[in-house]
Amino acid sequence: MNHPASYQGRRVVVLGLARSGVSVAKVFHQLGADVVVNDMKARELCPEADELTALGISVLCGYHPDDLITEDTALLIKNPGIPYSSPPVLRAGELGVEVITEVEAAYWLSPAPIIGITGSNGKTTTTTWIGEILNAAGLKPIVAGNIGRPLCEAALEATPDQWIVAELSSFQLKGTSDFRPHIALLLNIAETHLDYHGDMDDYVNSKAKLFDNQTEDDVAVINWDDPECRALSEFLIAQQLPFSLYERLDAGIYIEPPYELDVIDSLEQETAKNRQIVFRQGEEMEITILPVSELGIPGRHNAANALAAIAACLAAGVAPDQLIEPLQLFRGVEHRLEFVREVNGVKYYNDSKATNPVATTMSVRSLSAPIVLVAGGLDRGSDYMELVPLFRDRLKGLVALGETREKLSRVAELAGLGKVEIVEPNEDAESVLKQAVKQAAAMAEPGDIVLLSPACASWDMFASYEQRGRIFKDSAHTL
Ligand code: ADP
Repeated sequence: MNHPASYQGRRVVVLGLARSGVSVAKVFHQLGADVVVNDMKARELCPEADELTALGISVLCGYHPDDLITEDTALLIKNPGIPYSSPPVLRAGELGVEVITEVEAAYWLSPAPIIGITGSNGKTTTTTWIGEILNAAGLKPIVAGNIGRPLCEAALEATPDQWIVAELSSFQLKGTSDFRPHIALLLNIAETHLDYHGDMDDYVNSKAKLFDNQTEDDVAVINWDDPECRALSEFLIAQQLPFSLYERLDAGIYIEPPYELDVIDSLEQETAKNRQIVFRQGEEMEITILPVSELGIPGRHNAANALAAIAACLAAGVAPDQLIEPLQLFRGVEHRLEFVREVNGVKYYNDSKATNPVATTMSVRSLSAPIVLVAGGLDRGSDYMELVPLFRDRLKGLVALGETREKLSRVAELAGLGKVEIVEPNEDAESVLKQAVKQAAAMAEPGDIVLLSPACASWDMFASYEQRGRIFKDSAHTL
């Protein structure tokens, strides 16, 4: 296997700054590679460059030099968000230069085993939850990856007795070759990021790379309820630990009695008390862990995240009774179905991280009161028709904003929703969202919920979903 040290004295190009670019550039520089960093952004928009130039690393900003990728370039490490159609990546392809993401380099470097978590939805929640459970069990996890802290930084700090708990996006996984997590979790696969991947096959194949290098000594945690994940399980070499909300498994983690697919979710809070999470290993072992109602965060999707986290932690050696307290105490992550406040009898929830229709569906279904939804954002080409039944069955009203406002209001119209409003864009995105919150508040009555769960990414109006969520929270606090 490769190691960053084997690039000593050789040209390594890091494409894209950001935290992971800085981290990986520093690692290769420290280990003696001849590192060149390039970013399309203008120099004044790349404050991270200062730290690297101070170390003597050459940083080129504002353009891609024609001679960036040369015959003697040994490696190109690209930021996961940069498309494969970008000129330097194409050039690397022509010259046969290996192209990886920072995740791959972190794997080369890490002395600690890795728990890798991927999926379309639930990654951050599950990753954070696993970190908290391992921490409570005294296993000193380092949580990193797509969640914020660069994986290379974690790998440098880790010791062999620790676990690196890595949230991994499909973009990061696409750029791996040797990457081998000891425990790999695939939470679910929904249709998303098709603008980057081109088609569903490329997206699924990128996710599946998580398992490519696993051996019989490794563990694959698979969502048995997701047809795409289940189909993959046929090809896995690792030991499998499936989880299911809907089926009793002979070996795996499931709910007893299982959920029923089409049961009305508003009854869910009631039935959760009687549903237990069970870990079963054939005839020899069956352990009841705790009732679903005791999990620290609500919703069927979070029960699925809990099952996945339990599977990973059991595989990492946590005893079943050590799981209970951190499962109960977990309070979720900011911008994910986050309770903001109650005013005039109306509860406000910030779910800005719901950037696709599946995520919004899950969140809406987790709440039992009538909901006024604030939704809309970046248009990625979907028509959102799959939301018609959800809107019909679960919403009281919709306030639509962003590029997809017309599409979502059409969905609401087809769903027969009486209360639908569109907030037209203007240059001040913050005022648009504030206006949307005011309109939602006016629609809601005591006992209702106003939920920001956009079903779309934020980039048409905001720098990030975090910014969108904070503005929503501020707006709710100043009503
Ligand atoms: P990710 O990191 O994959 O984007 P998060 O844990 O940040 O996932 O959750 C984002 C949103 O996705 C949540 O607000 C929720 O609406 C939805 N979600 C979370 N877990 C699941 C799941 N297991 N299945 C479907 N949707 C989910």
